[in-house]
Order: sequence, then C-alpha cells, then structure tokens
Amino acid sequence: MATQSTVLKIAIPTPLRRYFDYLPAKETDIGQLKPGVRVRVPFGRRQLIGIFIGLSSTSDVSIDKLKPIECVIDQEPVIPEDIMQLCAWAAEYYHYPMGEVLIGALPSLLRQGKPAERVYPTPLTRSVHQAAPFSLNEAQQRAVTHIRAAAYGFKAFLLEGVTGSGKTEVYLQAIADVLQRGRQALLLVPEIGLTPQAMQRFRERFTVPIVTLHSGMTAKQRLQGWLAATRGDARVIIGTRSAVFTPFADLGLIIIDEEHDVSFKQQEGFRYHGRDVAIMRAHFRQIPIVLGSATPSLEAVHNVKQGRFQSLMLPERTGKAMMPVFEIIDIRHMTLEQGISSTLLQQIEQRLHCGEQVLLFLNRRGFSPALICHACGWIPMCQRCNKPMTYHQRVARLFCHHCDSQKKLIHSCEQCASTALYPMGHGTERLEVILKKAFPHYSIARLDKDSTRKKGAMETLLEGIQKGEHAILIGTQMLAKGHHFPNVTLVAVIDADGGFFSADFCSLERMAQLIIQVAGRAGRDEKPGKVIIQTRHPEHCFLQQLVNENYQKLAEILLKERALAALPPYSHFALFRAEAYNNNDAIHFLQQIKERVDEKNKNMQTMGPIPAGMPMRAGRHRSQLLLQAKKRSYLHNELKNLIPQIEKIPTKKRVRWSLDVDPIEMV
Ligand code: ADP
Ligand code: ZN
Ligand code: ZN
Repeated sequence: MATQSTVLKIAIPTPLRRYFDYLPAKETDIGQLKPGVRVRVPFGRRQLIGIFIGLSSTSDVSIDKLKPIECVIDQEPVIPEDIMQLCAWAAEYYHYPMGEVLIGALPSLLRQGKPAERVYPTPLTRSVHQAAPFSLNEAQQRAVTHIRAAAYGFKAFLLEGVTGSGKTEVYLQAIADVLQRGRQALLLVPEIGLTPQAMQRFRERFTVPIVTLHSGMTAKQRLQGWLAATRGDARVIIGTRSAVFTPFADLGLIIIDEEHDVSFKQQEGFRYHGRDVAIMRAHFRQIPIVLGSATPSLEAVHNVKQGRFQSLMLPERTGKAMMPVFEIIDIRHMTLEQGISSTLLQQIEQRLHCGEQVLLFLNRRGFSPALICHACGWIPMCQRCNKPMTYHQRVARLFCHHCDSQKKLIHSCEQCASTALYPMGHGTERLEVILKKAFPHYSIARLDKDSTRKKGAMETLLEGIQKGEHAILIGTQMLAKGHHFPNVTLVAVIDADGGFFSADFCSLERMAQLIIQVAGRAGRDEKPGKVIIQTRHPEHCFLQQLVNENYQKLAEILLKERALAALPPYSHFALFRAEAYNNNDAIHFLQQIKERVDEKNKNMQTMGPIPAGMPMRAGRHRSQLLLQAKKRSYLHNELKNLIPQIEKIPTKKRVRWSLDVDPIEMV
C-alpha cells in the first residue's frame, strides 16, 4: 500500500524545465515501479505520456493538491539507465526540457502509449552467404588494428580518409571484430536513402541480423527495429541522427560516417548534435567511437590537435584509382551557353564520346531561382519571406523554398502588366533542359528533392546510373554524398561562388567540404578523374588552396583564422533566436536577455540582437542574439541562470524563441 507521502517524479514533454509530482494510482504497486517506465498522467485537461523518474517523500506542492497517475504502462523500463543518463546529459548541455528529451528518444508508437511488450514480432532478415572481406591495405590495416586494440574503454578516433580510400571497409572489419566479441555495433550515417549501395555492402558482409532506423520507415517498422536493438536480436544497427538514443543490449562500438555532415545536427526543437551525443554515449559506456570523413569538421581536426581524438589516416585511394585533378575555369569574361562555358561543354562531349559518365553539380533545384520582368525589373516575391520565388517549369508553378508556399505561374508582370517575364539564373531543372539540347543522344539523370519525391524514385535513378543507363548526371548536394559511381570521370561544379561572401562563420568550411566531396565522385575506378570548377573568383586564395593543396592544409588555415578571430572551436557559442509577427517584439525580447547577461557577467560577450540571415520567414520577423564565451563552463553556467529568468519575461508569449548551443549556422 502506498502511503500518502509517496510522491512520483514524472518527466513530461512540456516546455517547462522540471519534473512533475503525482501520487500513485490505487492499483500502482510501488515496489514494482522501475525508473524509465512510461506512465499515463492527467495534465491540465489532457492526458499525457510521461516517464517515471523516481520516488520522493516530499513535494513542493502540498500533497492534497497532487493528482494520482492514470496508469503505469510498462513493467520494464523503455528508457534504461544508460539512456536516462545520456538524456540527462543532453538535456543539461542543450538546455532543453528533460521530459521532451526523454519522450523524443522513443519511437513514435511508444510516445503514443502503444505497448512495448512482444506485440510486434520483428522480421529479422539475415543474409545466408557472407561476402568475403577485402584484404586490407597497410593504412586500412593500421586503422583496424588501433580500433581493435581500444575495444574495452573509451577512445575517440578520427578516421581521415580521402574520398575512395576504403573507409567503409575499415568500418566493416572493425564491426566484424566487435560482433565476434558478442557485442553490438551502431553506425550513424547522415541519410540512409542516399546510399542504398553501401547498405547493401553491410547486408552482404554479415550473417547476423542488421536493422536500419531512419525517417523513411513506417512507425511500426521503426518500433520493430528499435525493439530488436533493445533486446539484442539485431547485432548491427544503421541509423540516422536520432538512432543515437536507441537502447542496446550490449553496445560495443559506435561509428559516425561523414562526421562533418550538417544533418547530424537537429535544426529545430531539441537542437542536439548526433555526433556529439554519440561521443558522450561512448564515453559513458566506455567503448570506442570512430568518426570517419574525407573532410572532417574543424572541431574534429581541433580535437585531434588537442589530443582528445586519435587520428587514423587513409591517405590514398584503394587499388589503381588516383585522386582527380582540378581545373578552374574563369567564367568572368566568357560568353556562357546558359551558364555553361564552352570549355566545359567540349570536355563533357569528349567524355561522353568515350562512353564515360559526367556529373554536374549545382546546389539549386527548380528551373530558375527567380523570374524577372524585362520591362520594369519586378520580381515575384514570397510575401511571407520577402525572397524571390523559385520558378519550376515542369509543374508551371512558383515555389518559395523557405516556407514552401506556392502559386500558379504568372504570365504578366503584376507591376507593369508586361508579358516579358524571364527566368533569371539557373537551377537543376534548367540545367537539364540545356544539356538535353546540347547532347540529345545521351540520357540524363537528375537527382534533387523534386525528382526523388516519389517513393523508390531515388533507388531507380541510382540503379540506372550504376548500370550505365544515364550518361549525364545532374544534381544538388544529394549527388555529392558517398556515392560510388566507377564510370564517372568528369565532375563539374557549375557555380562555386555561392559560399564566398556568406556572413556565416562556417560557410567556407562547408563549401570546402562540399567541393571536395563532389570532386570525390570523379575517377573512383581505374579511369582517371577530373574536376572542373566554374567561378568568377579564380584567384580567391581559398579556391587556390583547395585545388593545389588538399583539404587538410585548408582546414589548418581555416582553423588558424578561427583562432585569430576567437571563433569556435576557440570559443563557444550559443545562439538565441526569436521570431514574431511584430519585429519589435522579437528584438525587445532578445534585448532583455542581452541586458541580463551584460549586466553582471564579464566572462561573456553578446552580439546583437541583429536580424537573422533570413530576416523574415513565413510571415515572421526573425532576430538573433549571440552569446560567446572563452570557456564552455562560462557559457553553460550563464545559460543555466538565464533560462529561469527568460521564462519570466512578460513579452515571452508574443515570440517564438529557441536556444541553439554550438550552432552550426546563423540563418
Ligand atoms: P570511401 O568510403 O573511403 O569513400 P569506399 O569504402 O567506398 O571508400 O571504397 C572505395 C572502393 O574501394 C570500393 O569499391 C571498395 O569496395 C574498394 N575497396 C575498399 N577497400 C579495398 C581493399 N582493401 N582492396 C581493394 N578494394 C577495396
Ligand atoms: Zn514589369
Ligand atoms: Zn516563403
């Protein structure tokens, strides 16, 4: 029997940063109640699912005001102790409500209160034949040996391997080793749909059950995968960002592929970095973690310098493949055939003639990023974002890529009624039209968000490319990531100038990563590869270093610049964002935060409030305030003090605000 003074501490997904007190229900057996089980509780007029944290004999609220819980859902915790610890760390580090973090860590069906006991038998497939491993080259062997030697304890490795150097093979053999010890392995990847080939390699290599966890799956499939990992039925789990919170029966190794990729950072709500949470997980669990990339983040490079990560290098491509050569084309004074220089057209023709594939990279989808009236200069804008609307010819519509609003194509200027409305600039759709005209006898595959919207469309396109059905490949960054197309010998970056003048402190790093990654698709087999970069800034030292040196050298230089400017990783950032229908509300809100910080904290710098990179989106005005500190602890102590004060700002109701710890973009 529960005494009246037994209080249940429950984490509930609300913006309030505290636990809530409840009394046991009549039938609750307190002795059987384990932390981490789900409970259903009355909350205001609603019923919510919460997580039981622990018992207490006291409450801040008088006991007779407390309500009993509705029921206990689980017998065994859905959040085991280690995940509880990880979530507690993440909630504190990102200053996000624990209830939201815990509930967010669960598959959606469990969030809704569906049972977690044996109701969903997991159809685990395992391959019957095991593909033989490659015999490793020296550098790969060294990497695997180091990872193996670190099996029982925390150690972080940065596997820096140039594109096509066989990083995946290192992962495979490191995982094989862990499986042999009877433990499980977790591989986190940026996006699963983009690399079905690599997934296939994993399935073919191991005979143990493998599950994937990603947003393309149905809720039921996700729960099945999650349960299989939790129970230890699945031995290798391949997942995107949120899979980092999956409980495991016996996790022995974590691998983060393409650790530099921005999709590891959640950009809304709980803004955690999957890579950084994974590192903490490995640390808590005392197991090794491997971060792999051809273009490691500057943070990772810095961590190697500081001795926190051990560097493992794969300096060369495997087999006979050579690194591609670069050629910069200065397009300033050239007459361009619709955005493409004649030099590039000639080189494309040569390659096609030899039966090879060419890849054209343009990070802008749609036909053209704007329409313009030839008579008066008027441009159709998104009223809610104050940005030009992108013209999509195929569906004859205008889309705003910032808020997804759309309208029918207009045929006359709304300002002067002229019918001379012309597309301005190029997107992938337009590039496709141009190339179709120039090379009518070759098949073109376009890979972007529009062409891959339908289920299975991406797989079909990628398969067609592998089989050589398409000679010309056009795409956005989707085409830059991780693919292994052996017959691609020419890669062209159609417009390299986008990232040069961005106000974002990360933009050069991102641009270097993108160019190296897309270049890495060229010449991955025996035929040598070439990369052509069209630019109006051929002399830019950044571009020169990138093509004449290598990514590592450039990373060194970018890090030095960051050090001089006291930018991360040499200082620590937290970004407050606020948006409101009335601009003054957002600014006023941030101003109050700023005053509270400036008043008393000499260890902190504030910058702002200033309009965000996108000053308006979906009808809301957006501003931001940057907090900067030399030491991480300064920043976190300040944020800890600040949050309860922010909760009390009276105008809070009129703004949508968020806090981004370690922001990776300032838009
Ligand atoms: P990365 O992930 O570094 O870009 P991959 O792992 O995709 O590179 O390897 C590139 C190619 O080299 C793949 O086709 C892979 O099968 C092959 N490969 C990897 N390791 C070896 C090896 N030791 N011997 C021969 N081929 C290898
Ligand atoms: Zn006009
Ligand atoms: Zn818009």
